[in-house]
Amino acid sequence: MSEAASEKNTVLMEKIVSLCKRRSFIFQSAEIYGGLNGCWDYGPLGAELKRNLKEYWWRRNVQEREDILGMDGSILTHQEVLKASGHVGGFSDPMCDCLLSKARLRADQIDPQDGTVYQYSGASHEESGWSVDREYSVLVTEGQDENKARKTARLYYSQFLTDKQISPKKLELAGESTEEVTGTTSFNPENGSQLTEPREFNLMFKTHMGASAEDGDESSVAYLRPETAQTIFTQFKNVAETNRVKLPFGIAQIGKSFRNEINPRNYTFRSREFEQMEIEFFCRPDEGMALTDEWLEKRLKFYEEIGIPREHLHILDVPDGERAHYSKKTYDIEYEFPFGIQELEGVAYRTDYDLSKHKECSGKPLEFFDDETKEKLIPHVVEPSAGCDRTILALICEAFDEETVTDDKGKEEVRTVMRFSPRMAPIKVAVLPLLKNKPELVEKAREVQALLTPFMTVFYDETAAIGRRYRRQDEVGTPFCVTVDFDTLGEAGDELKDTVTLRHRDSMEQERIAIADLRNFLLDQIH
Ligand code: ATP
Repeated sequence: MSEAASEKNTVLMEKIVSLCKRRSFIFQSAEIYGGLNGCWDYGPLGAELKRNLKEYWWRRNVQEREDILGMDGSILTHQEVLKASGHVGGFSDPMCDCLLSKARLRADQIDPQDGTVYQYSGASHEESGWSVDREYSVLVTEGQDENKARKTARLYYSQFLTDKQISPKKLELAGESTEEVTGTTSFNPENGSQLTEPREFNLMFKTHMGASAEDGDESSVAYLRPETAQTIFTQFKNVAETNRVKLPFGIAQIGKSFRNEINPRNYTFRSREFEQMEIEFFCRPDEGMALTDEWLEKRLKFYEEIGIPREHLHILDVPDGERAHYSKKTYDIEYEFPFGIQELEGVAYRTDYDLSKHKECSGKPLEFFDDETKEKLIPHVVEPSAGCDRTILALICEAFDEETVTDDKGKEEVRTVMRFSPRMAPIKVAVLPLLKNKPELVEKAREVQALLTPFMTVFYDETAAIGRRYRRQDEVGTPFCVTVDFDTLGEAGDELKDTVTLRHRDSMEQERIAIADLRNFLLDQIH
């Protein structure tokens, strides 16, 4: 991306974040206490948007399908479950710390650098007789001054001074030597300081349960689940035995997951608490590969149905060696966020790995009797795993638009409009009496509101000029506005009586519609 394009995208992202706060979509968690990093609260409009997404996902993947059942598992998870799944031992990122600033960096995300390494064996302060023996090195990249290395090294050694009054500048460095290096990832790109060796950092939130929790009893350890999938695997047998199912069939779940991400960033994109929408689709071994391709298509279609067009999505066919070791095929569905092309969902063929592991670790039989082949088998599984919050962010980025419009008086202005698909829009329709000081208009508008509220989210607004009220609705993405005016009351004759103005958000076009037809018209649009 060019520098200009990147700058433009940063500005765009700032506008989106600002709109989300100003119009009640998303707030920083515990903002009044300085914020809880990596956690977000959805305000009234954000909550509606999220409900619409989750309800539509549930409808398409559970209610409209005979072969997928829903479940809602607990967040607190038995430690044995996550030992079996490999999360306790292995769900980690390699991390290293900057020896100078103490910043913690993900080792696999450090870009390799070339330059000269300045090595030291220690430092001393002649006047006070203080000294320290400790190896430390600094990277100086091309074009940087070698004195930078000495300055950085003095700052590093000054951390060990007992007398904090001594200026780092007064320290004498010992044993300087240099070495040319290429492609090193052992130094902090921000300041050149040496990093610690990478260490594995487990991403799970650990907690203790029950009365023995305070004694540090190991058996009281539980975890906040890092993915919803494991509850599905652990309940596979119960669900399969208490419902009449035959292969292939799926179990779906929407729920919170928690990961202690080292670097929560890009607004809500990488959070520590987030919601997932996952399906485990169980099948015979020979169906796995084809079903993975089928699910990829289904999921792409779903994104289209909620207003994320195919051309803004990218499919990454994860190559051998980069997939989880048990996965025979994985597609990442990525979206063009303003901050880069990033993963929305993974569609993975996980073979029989999870159920086999749980069978082995729990000692319980997790086989399924296939009525068709009269065989007992551990089913294989294809998993479409989507992030609810990431999809919400994609919907918001996709919807955001600014256009220049000219008003009746020829004045140009910028109209901010969230072009949510009517299906996802938090408010479906705004009901507006033309004037608030005419009781007949207000009464009629309230009647229209009452007619629609049992079926959809309706917003009633009687303050400010009608044009301003339309703009407010544009900014939160309300696809339709309904205005009750004097014609509605019959002042222009019987033909227009009991009709209202229906204003379309995207085209700003207006048409007349009978109040009697309004409900069905809107239901057709938002379903
Ligand atoms: P990433 O590589 O971005 O960390 P992942 O490959 O670890 O993601 P999965 O474990 O496959 O993610 O989880 C499935 C989905 O859950 C992701 O596609 C994403 O939409 C969502 N998800 C995972 N981690 C986070 C997070 N920290 N914040 C928000 N959503 C997340």
